[in-house]
Amino acid sequence: MPVIPLPALHASHAGTWLRDGNCETRGCSKGEAINAAADTPVLMLNAPLVATRLGYPDLSGLDLLELYAFVHPARFCVPTPKGLAHALDLVEPADDAAVPELLQRAAGKLLETCKSIDWTEREGAWSVLQSLARLRWPWAGVLAPHVAKPERAERWLFARLPEWEEAPERPQPAQVMLGEAEVAAQLDRLTGEDAEQREGQRAYAQDVAKVFMARDKRSLPHVLLAQAGTGIGKTLGYLAPASLWAEKSQGTVWVSTYTKNLQRQLRRESRRAWPASRADGSQPVVVRKGRENYLCLLNLEDALQGGFAGRPAILAQLVARWAAYSADGDMIGGDLPGWLGTLFRKRGIAALTDQRGECIYAGCPHYRKCFIERAARASAQADLVIANHALVMVNAARGRHQGQPPTRVIFDEGHHVFDAADSTFAAALTGAEAIELRRWIVGPEKGNRGRRRGLAARLADVASYDEAGGAAVEEAVDAAGQVPSDGWLGRIAEGQPLGPVEALLGQVRALAYARDESGAQDAGYGIETEIASLPGALIEAAQAAGTALAAIRGPLMKLGQRLEAVLEDAPDWLGGQERARIEGARHSLRWRIDLLSAWEALLARLGGPADPDFVDWFAVERGDMREFDIGIHRHWLDPMKPFAHIVLEPAHGVMLTSATLTDRSETGEDWQGAIEASGAPHLELQPLTSSAQSPFDYAVRAEVLIVTDIARGDLAAMAGAYGRLIEAANGGVLGLFTAIKRLRAVYGRIADRLARAGLPLYAQHVDPIDIGTLTDIFRDDRKASLLGTDALRDGVDVPGESLRCVVMEAVPWPRPTILHRARRAASGGGAYDDRIIRARLAQAFGRLIRSREDAGHFVMLSPAFPSRLLSAFPPGTPVIRLTLDEALKRVAAGPPSGDREGESGLHTPREESHDR
Ligand code: SF4
Repeated sequence: MPVIPLPALHASHAGTWLRDGNCETRGCSKGEAINAAADTPVLMLNAPLVATRLGYPDLSGLDLLELYAFVHPARFCVPTPKGLAHALDLVEPADDAAVPELLQRAAGKLLETCKSIDWTEREGAWSVLQSLARLRWPWAGVLAPHVAKPERAERWLFARLPEWEEAPERPQPAQVMLGEAEVAAQLDRLTGEDAEQREGQRAYAQDVAKVFMARDKRSLPHVLLAQAGTGIGKTLGYLAPASLWAEKSQGTVWVSTYTKNLQRQLRRESRRAWPASRADGSQPVVVRKGRENYLCLLNLEDALQGGFAGRPAILAQLVARWAAYSADGDMIGGDLPGWLGTLFRKRGIAALTDQRGECIYAGCPHYRKCFIERAARASAQADLVIANHALVMVNAARGRHQGQPPTRVIFDEGHHVFDAADSTFAAALTGAEAIELRRWIVGPEKGNRGRRRGLAARLADVASYDEAGGAAVEEAVDAAGQVPSDGWLGRIAEGQPLGPVEALLGQVRALAYARDESGAQDAGYGIETEIASLPGALIEAAQAAGTALAAIRGPLMKLGQRLEAVLEDAPDWLGGQERARIEGARHSLRWRIDLLSAWEALLARLGGPADPDFVDWFAVERGDMREFDIGIHRHWLDPMKPFAHIVLEPAHGVMLTSATLTDRSETGEDWQGAIEASGAPHLELQPLTSSAQSPFDYAVRAEVLIVTDIARGDLAAMAGAYGRLIEAANGGVLGLFTAIKRLRAVYGRIADRLARAGLPLYAQHVDPIDIGTLTDIFRDDRKASLLGTDALRDGVDVPGESLRCVVMEAVPWPRPTILHRARRAASGGGAYDDRIIRARLAQAFGRLIRSREDAGHFVMLSPAFPSRLLSAFPPGTPVIRLTLDEALKRVAAGPPSGDREGESGLHTPREESHDR
């Protein structure tokens, strides 16, 4: 194995190590490391992370991850020394000091691969390397001697990608019955004939089958709320009836998830029911996401041809390498490594997707190869579409479907449907939103690179053919000049707003500062104030802004009518492709017109009485003492009301399922909250309910430890507790926080000490690494620990030894926002808060025991944890109130195993039972 004789650098919280070209490794100071990297190209792994560790943001070098992305695009690699060693089949480094040598070996192995005839990702590499050399990519010179020029011209990315085919629309599904015996047989087939039969799973599958019954009344779907405790085998439990129905009816089932994790799991498990492809090459299972997730080939082409400069241009070349080998072009959570974007800053990735609906559809030269179009067409022919809650709701609201709209929908992670509906059906007139609209209409402002084009450029041919259409475009462009443009925040802060919308936002900001009493102003957090007793000047400003918005909406509506007329009375040049493009433009217009109408309604309300269905407020978004948006917000008091009418009503069968659907109050499972939160009552519909208890033995495998001697707000004590608990558990701790500020403070105090003890600590909001990659790193190293906030509380699935202990900093009270206050008042006051907290505790606890073999501690740092919240934990789980020292002994003794009493040094200080 060749070792590349380039200096290599590794920095962790435990120290810094340099290996020189003569293969000698030594510890060094941070300053020495920075100087070495400045003098000569140095091998390193994850340069932004090394830069953070050294406290020197401008660090650059030969990043092994960039080389890996070039040599093995679309291949998974955990971006740590250990992960790289595994990905390349090298020996894991024994300690930090061994990492620089590993980097040299890894570089050698990757360069050797480029020479090998077995290199499966060779095609396109030489051409991309020539471009990367022109961009002065640090690796280009090192790679050049190893990547041979192909004898024949290589197929370039756009030639390499397959074209999608049009297919006839599927007929509507047949109305079929699913018999009990056939559902049971299908479940046996999916789980394997020899698998142990799980009664809970069998009963669950039979309940799910009821969702697929024929509907008797219009607008009254079958709705099932199914609680399935962890370990029931919920996924196969619903895939069994779903796949049977799809087969018998020739219809499509949609399964909607909240996390990417579950999407991946579903894709895996669906293989048991469906083959990867049908005999005709089409896919029976398709993953669908919002279009902003996929690579837009036109944006990529533009970036490759000079639209990007500097580091983003290098990223574009590496993305082009990936796109040629990607399964589906999904840039967020697909096979593009999550870490690639963070090596080059996230915005680079976002700029390559279609963020703002600028797609020109059939007018695009890559339309027939477009990943987004391919996924949309494939889903119209699929038996199973795996989507997410937001996409299902947005598509239903905008009425845009390729093929039949979804009529059988399973919302897994159903406890998130309320939150997803809350954000989908909300409206916000903010500066950032308004500027997006302006750009969509007018195009980029001066000085911006790239292909982003305005309405006039996108519809140039229609405008020149149809005079009235052309005039409407011009009118819209003129009117859009009245909404915020670049630099709006600065102008507002200086009291120099431009145009009526900026003027309004200036008044909104002033009022929010004048009235906010939350204390967030001084702490640097965002501030908000309810919309009440508004000054006359603000109401006048709102009227002027409303008039300005209406002046944009008018010509957009006119343009929509002209496009319709062009389609009806089609000119000769209007072929199928042009027609599709105009259809696409009409859809985008509709979306903007609806947005403007919602904004106008919001402004009209400012002078008048409040609408009891909505909660409205002004907000200034801030972070790290810096303002980043100002606006007016409107949320439904109950977002399940629009959900019921838009999603439930047109469907024939809908299920919401989760391990934490119901509230576990002190009196037992409470279905009332779950029924209300399903939207069913808005259709005067009584949903079916079903409950399957987890088969896990929580009484034996888990302990809840409530540490009573860490005072709330004592940051030093809290950091000390986290550090000692991680040491006691020897890593494998997931630390959950409700405030980023406290997370950062705790991390800053303990990371170095733990690293010196060989216990790496990673943290969301601190490490320049996305959550998915952080979880991969945590899962891959049983000595690692991870700190994070909400997204980790119920989005992490780490079965096995890597997660042995969950530590929560405090009772997860809901944030006392204006929206929360309104919902609390409407839904039972303190009891509403308790429901939210119990749900959060149940989700956090759910991270601990993911499989029958899992065991561990759930530690709560809370001197006065209310007993009424204990029912959040599964029945039978031992709950012990104790001091930190006592908790440390229990954690250090290892995960519970059921025969712990009587072990030396262990006793049960105060155990509470909440068996019911
Ligand atoms: S069809 Fe639209 S999304 Fe697809 S590559 Fe072209 S512009 Fe991008």
